[in-house]
Amino acid sequence: MERYTDVLVIGSGLAGLFTALNIDPKYKVIMIAKEHLQNSNSMLAQGGIAAELNNDPILHESHFEDTLKAGSFINDKQAVKYLVDNALVAIETLVKFGAHFDKDEKNQYLLTKEGGHSHKRILHSGGDASGYNTTKSLTDDLLARENIQVIENTIALDLIRSKDGKCAGAFVLENDELHYSIHAKMTVLATGGIGSVYGSTTNDLSATGDGIGMAHRIGARIRDMEFVQFHPTALYLEDSKSRRRFLITEALRGEGATLVNVEEQRFMQKYDPERMELAPRDVVSQAIYREMYDTWTDHVYIDTRHLDPKFLEKRFPTVFKRVKEEGYIMGIDLIPVAPCEHFMCGGVYTDLQGKTTVENLYAVGEVASSGVHGANRLASNSLLECIVFALSASKQMNELLETSKLQSDPKMEVLPQYNYNYKPIRKKIGDYMDEHVGIVRNTKGLTLTKSVLDQISKNLLKSPNLTRHYYETLNIVTTAQLITEAALRREESIGCHLRIE
Ligand SMILES: Cc1cc2nc3c(=O)[nH]c(=O)nc-3n(C[C@H](O)[C@H](O)[C@H](O)COP(=O)(O)OP(=O)(O)OC[C@H]3O[C@@H](n4cnc5c(N)ncnc54)[C@H](O)[C@@H]3O)c2cc1C
Repeated sequence: MERYTDVLVIGSGLAGLFTALNIDPKYKVIMIAKEHLQNSNSMLAQGGIAAELNNDPILHESHFEDTLKAGSFINDKQAVKYLVDNALVAIETLVKFGAHFDKDEKNQYLLTKEGGHSHKRILHSGGDASGYNTTKSLTDDLLARENIQVIENTIALDLIRSKDGKCAGAFVLENDELHYSIHAKMTVLATGGIGSVYGSTTNDLSATGDGIGMAHRIGARIRDMEFVQFHPTALYLEDSKSRRRFLITEALRGEGATLVNVEEQRFMQKYDPERMELAPRDVVSQAIYREMYDTWTDHVYIDTRHLDPKFLEKRFPTVFKRVKEEGYIMGIDLIPVAPCEHFMCGGVYTDLQGKTTVENLYAVGEVASSGVHGANRLASNSLLECIVFALSASKQMNELLETSKLQSDPKMEVLPQYNYNYKPIRKKIGDYMDEHVGIVRNTKGLTLTKSVLDQISKNLLKSPNLTRHYYETLNIVTTAQLITEAALRREESIGCHLRIE
């Protein structure tokens, strides 16, 4: 079986949805999603979207400056400027598609603050249901579009490379049994993050670095892979066996929550006396790491005991409900937290239009390295990155589609199918990444991890297997190798990459 389309969008998070919706309806779009259409990290986002919506040049400049400062000034300045300058139009387009954000009684947007922001500039929806509400409204729009065909439970295995080296669509596997090609004039990677490369993560566990793996195999440039952001405050549950950890939004600290160690002592004054708990995530995660080390424990606490439980329940309904299930009442109890993997700041290199180094291949959202994040992402800039670059990528594709032609020619390889279980190997990779390529890294640990990963990769490549789990495991190990190699190359500590020899 073969399918043909103008645009193939791989992934149904905010980046994929917004790209597909902004493609001119006269063009045919196929969107594939590995699982259910609504299964993505975008659905999980709590804090909101950072954006300066009025034209005050000082506020505008401060969003630019805060982003650079969080990224240790190695961000691509042009990309950051593009992000900040295009925030308003991207948010307006989002609202046109039905997204809504919380407002006060005077119909003004309610704004909040998170780590690294010098002003309140974060829009939120349903209190802490920003990702769910935004993604849901776009999904409803998408399903009503006649030019967009959605195929769920379908994983892209590899990108199709035409004889002249261009991207011409993808080989996919539907429901783990139907293997076919989707030939496309333009292909968009919107596959999101890499959480499952690590042993514990805030991400949906379907985030296996597929876009990075596929882009690497087709020869696209990959950049800044050492910059993996660890969120400081994932809920810590001593007996939990789940690799997925529930996130406690930074906006809670934006509303006054503090951090204390197991001795119930506030500690951020030792690490960042000015910004305290609202320092950028790299600073806070590294501070928590040191506190845990010094106090022989594996967690610290978020302290909300000085805040009104009723306010907390109204402002953070999702978090309030989840921690209550574990026996903690916000406003009354200390809530145990510890850092874990959260966001990939690097990824597939793109220009300002989301174009990768492979002709006809675009990357948008967390899979992309647009250059805006530098060595550490500023909180709530990723949803903004999704919509700003989805808009510019779709605009460029709309222009190019006028004249572009389908490139397909290569034949699909026939692959064997085995019932192998890759869980133990995934666990091994996660354990090595947590231990040696986590918040603190050194040459010995990185070198050891690289040799383990290289061996696993060699073994996997020797016995290809036509299953979702084989390809995900292959992408996990490729992504882990790229992170480890980049971490070895970068000898200095910067942003979320901390080397202590
Ligand atoms: C708990 C949590 C809270 C967060 N809160 C915020 C916040 O408040 N503000 C903010 O700015 N950012 C936040 N982030 C980060 C932000 O949510 C993500 O960076 C962003 O949503 C990524 O969007 P995306 O569209 O690139 O990817 P995703 O939303 O992750 O979507 C990826 C899609 O690709 C599909 N996919 C993956 N591989 C394949 C494949 N091989 N074939 C087919 N489909 C595939 C997946 O099934 C999914 O549909 C948060 C992240 C998490 C995990």
